[in-house]
Amino acid sequence: MGAPTRTTCPYCGVGCGVSALPDGKGGAAIIGDKAHPANKGKLCSKGSALGETLSLDDRLLRPQVCGQDSGWDEALQLVADKFRTTAAEYGPDAVAFYVSGQLLTEDYYVANKLMKGYIGSGNIDTNSRLCMASSVAGHRRAFGTDTVPGLYDDIELADTVVLVGSNLAWCHPVLYQRLAAAKSARPEMRVVTVDPRRTATSDLSDLHLALRPGSDVALFNALLTRIVDEDALDHAFLGAHVEGFVAALAAARADDPEATGLSAEEIDAFCRLWMRREKVVTIYSQGVNQSSQGSDKVNAILNCHLATGRIGKPGMGPFSVTGQPNAMGGREVGGLANMLACHLDIENATHRTAVHEFWDSPVIADKPGLKAVDMFKAVGEGRIKALWIIHTNPAVSMPDADAVRDAIASCDFVVVSDVTGRTDTARLAHVLLPATAWGEKDGTVTNSERCISRQRAFLPAPGEARADWDILAEVARRMGHVAAFDYANPAEIFREYAALSGVAGKFGRDFDISALADCSDADYDALEPFHWPRSGTRSGGRFFGDGRFFTSDGRGRMLAVSTQAPVARPSADWPLVLNTGRLRDQWHTMTRSAKSPRLNAHMAEPYLEIHPVDAALAGLSPASLARVESPVGAAILRVLVSDKVQQGQVFAPMHWTGETASAGRIDALVPAVTDPVSGQPESKAATCRVTAFAAGAYGFALSLEEPVPDAPYWAKARARGGWRCELAWETAPQDWTEAARALFGLSPDAEPLVVADPARGLHRLAFLQDGRLAAALFVARDPVAVSRQHLIGLLGAEDALGVLAGQPGADRPDPGATICACFDVGVNTIRAAISAQNLTSVEAIGQALRAGTNCGSCKPELKALLEAAAPRLAAE
Ligand code: SF4
Repeated sequence: MGAPTRTTCPYCGVGCGVSALPDGKGGAAIIGDKAHPANKGKLCSKGSALGETLSLDDRLLRPQVCGQDSGWDEALQLVADKFRTTAAEYGPDAVAFYVSGQLLTEDYYVANKLMKGYIGSGNIDTNSRLCMASSVAGHRRAFGTDTVPGLYDDIELADTVVLVGSNLAWCHPVLYQRLAAAKSARPEMRVVTVDPRRTATSDLSDLHLALRPGSDVALFNALLTRIVDEDALDHAFLGAHVEGFVAALAAARADDPEATGLSAEEIDAFCRLWMRREKVVTIYSQGVNQSSQGSDKVNAILNCHLATGRIGKPGMGPFSVTGQPNAMGGREVGGLANMLACHLDIENATHRTAVHEFWDSPVIADKPGLKAVDMFKAVGEGRIKALWIIHTNPAVSMPDADAVRDAIASCDFVVVSDVTGRTDTARLAHVLLPATAWGEKDGTVTNSERCISRQRAFLPAPGEARADWDILAEVARRMGHVAAFDYANPAEIFREYAALSGVAGKFGRDFDISALADCSDADYDALEPFHWPRSGTRSGGRFFGDGRFFTSDGRGRMLAVSTQAPVARPSADWPLVLNTGRLRDQWHTMTRSAKSPRLNAHMAEPYLEIHPVDAALAGLSPASLARVESPVGAAILRVLVSDKVQQGQVFAPMHWTGETASAGRIDALVPAVTDPVSGQPESKAATCRVTAFAAGAYGFALSLEEPVPDAPYWAKARARGGWRCELAWETAPQDWTEAARALFGLSPDAEPLVVADPARGLHRLAFLQDGRLAAALFVARDPVAVSRQHLIGLLGAEDALGVLAGQPGADRPDPGATICACFDVGVNTIRAAISAQNLTSVEAIGQALRAGTNCGSCKPELKALLEAAAPRLAAE
C-alpha cells in the first residue's frame, strides 16, 4: 500500500477533490477529499466508482502507425514531418488540433503554444466548444472577459436558486447535494427549475417551468421587464457601472412572453421569486449553452443580474456550470480557436504582440481559427489535411456525427492521442499515440468556480504511455522548436503559464496567477486548491461586486436580445423535437465510466424517453424499440414511456457509441446548426420522427467473454464478472444455437442447455464450460422479461442449472435494476422495503437499506419511488 494521493475527479466541472490510496496491484481505493473546497469529502456515484475504472483493459499501450505497433521515435517523427510539410506546402491553416476538456492545463498550454505561436494558425479548438462556448461569448460581451463572477458558496447562501437548462442532480451531482442540503437546512430557500423536461433536479424545485425548447430569452426578457415595472432595479449600480440598459429594456419589452408557452401565472410566480428575494443565484448549463441562440440566452440572464446589481456578492450572481473537469482551464489557457492564453484576445493586435514577444516565437496566429463545427467541415472539404485529435471522440460527439466520421476518414493524415484505441475516432487514425490516463497524469485543472486544483499521479504510466504535454513538446522539438519546448516537467510549464498571466494582468485582464510564476517544483507538487486570481494585488474572491468590469471603459454591458424563431421547426415529416443530454452514471462516450459494472447497471442501453400520447401515435409500447430518424441520421433506441417529457418532444442520452451499440450514436441525428456568436452547436432541439422498429425477436445475453453481436439492434455493457447484451432482430435467425455460438465466439462443440417453445418464439440457451455458466441467451417475440441482475449474478457459477428459468426462486428475490450504485441496491428491493416497512422518507430508506447514504446521487430516484408508492401506502 502506498500513501493516499490528493487529486481531482476527472469527470464533471464540479471538480471534486479525491483521495486515492493505491492498492499496489494497479488499482486504488477512492474517497472524497474532505479538505477540497468543492466537495468537502463528498463524491457522486461516478466519482465513487473511479477505482473500478483503472484496469488496463482496452488500454492503448504502445504507438501504432497504420494499425501496426510502432516505436515512439518512428511515430513522433512521422507526426512532426507531416505537420511541418503540410503547413509548409498548403499554409498553416491546412493543419488543426481538436483537443479536449480532459486535457490538463499544462497539456493545453503546450498544444496552444505550438499551434498559435509556432505553426502560426488559430486552428486549435476544444470539445468545450460543444459544452459552454456560449457562456464564454456571453461573459465576454457583458463583462469584457470570460469571468465566472461567483463561488459555489453562493449557491448555499442564496434565498432563491434558479436552475436553467441544468439537470444538476445528474450532471453536477455534488453541487446538487450541496444545494439540497442547504434547502433542507433553510426550508425557506426557494428553488426554480426551468427546463422543457421534468428531471431528477425538478424534484427539488418549488416551481418547475416547462417552457418551450429554446424560449429562455423570452422568459428572462419578461423578467427584466417586470424588474423595471416594479422598480426592482439597483439604480446606483446601474448608473455607475452598466451600459446598454435602455436598448436591452426596449428589446425585452418588444419580446413576447407567450413564446415560452408558459401561463401568465407561471411567469408571474417566477418573477416574484426572483425579484422579491435579493439573494438570487441563476445557475445555467447545457440547456442554455447548447443552442443556436445560446449566447443571447446567456446575456438575457446576465442582463437581469446586472440591472439589479445582483452579481459578485455573497448569495448573488449568474453561474455557468461547466461540463468537463478542465473546461475552464481550457478557456483560460487559450484552448478555444478564438482566444489567446490567459484571456487575451486574438483579435487584439496589442495582445497578439505581447504573447508573440513573451513566447519569442517565429509567428503568431493573426486571426481566430476554425471553431469545431467549421473545423470538421474544412476536414471534409479537404482544406485541413493534417488533424491531431486529443482525448476526444468527435466521430460520436460532434453534431452530424456521420458526416464528421466520414470527414475524418477522408482526411490525408489523422493522429489520435488517447488512452484507448477502442473508440470510433481512434479506429480512423493513421497514427495512434498512447497517452497517460487519470491516475497517471500530473498537472492542474480549473473547476466551474475558478478553483485551480492539482491532478496528481498515483499510478505509474503503463506500457509506453506518455503524458500529453510530453508528446506535444516532443513533436514541437522535432518540428525544429527545440528551446521553446524544452520542458522537463509540468511544473516548468505551469511557471511559464503563470508568468504569461502576469503579462495579461498588466493589460487589465482578469486571469492573473503571476504570484505563482516563481513557485518551485516542490511548491507546485504541494499546491493546494485556490480560486484565481492570485497576483501581487489580488487573491481569489468574487468578481464585479465592486462594479468594475473588464471592458474598455470598465462598465458592464447589458445587451439587447430578442427571441429568435427556432432554426428547426417540427413539420409533418419531422413532427418531434429531440433533446439530448447526460445520464447520472455515465460520462461522455463511456470510455472510462463503462468500465464499472455497477455504473452500467443504472441504465444499460440507449433509450428514448417519449410521452405516452406520442408513443401511442407511433405504436410504441414500453420497452419496445423505436427507430428515430432526423434529416441527417438515424438511431434505434429502447422505448421509455414517460410524461416527464412533454408531448411533441423526446429525449435521448448522448453516451452510446459504435463500440457499445449498433445504432445509438445520438449526435448522428443532430444537425450541425450553431450559435452565430459562439459557434456552439444546437444539441437540444433537432427535429425527428419516430416509428416502431419491427422486431421479429428480442434477445438478452450474458457471457463471461465480450460478445460479438451481429444484429440490427444490440447494446452491450460490462456486467459483474462478464458482459450483458440486449439484442433484436427483424427476422429471427433460423438456428438459435448457431446464432448464440457466433455471438459468444464459442466452438461448434460447445453444446448448450436448451429450453424452447418455437410456437411462442421462446428460446433459452445456456452454455457451461468446466461446469460453470459461461454464457446464456434468452429470446422472445416481445421484449425479454427475465431478471437481469439475478442472471448476471449467476455468471461463472457452478450452481447455474436454474438459469434457464430466467428468474430467481422464491428464496432469492430479484433486486431489479440498480438505483443506488454505491451499495448496489435494486429498484425491486427498494419497492419491497417501502411496502413491507411502510417507509416514508429517503432517510428511512437509507436506514433500512443504506441506499442513498453515501454519495446521495440516487436520492431523487428514491424520492420518486416513495411518491409512486404513496397512494398505495395510503390505501393500505
Ligand atoms: Fe466527479 Fe461527481 Fe464530483 Fe463531478 S460531482 S467532479 S463527477 S465526483
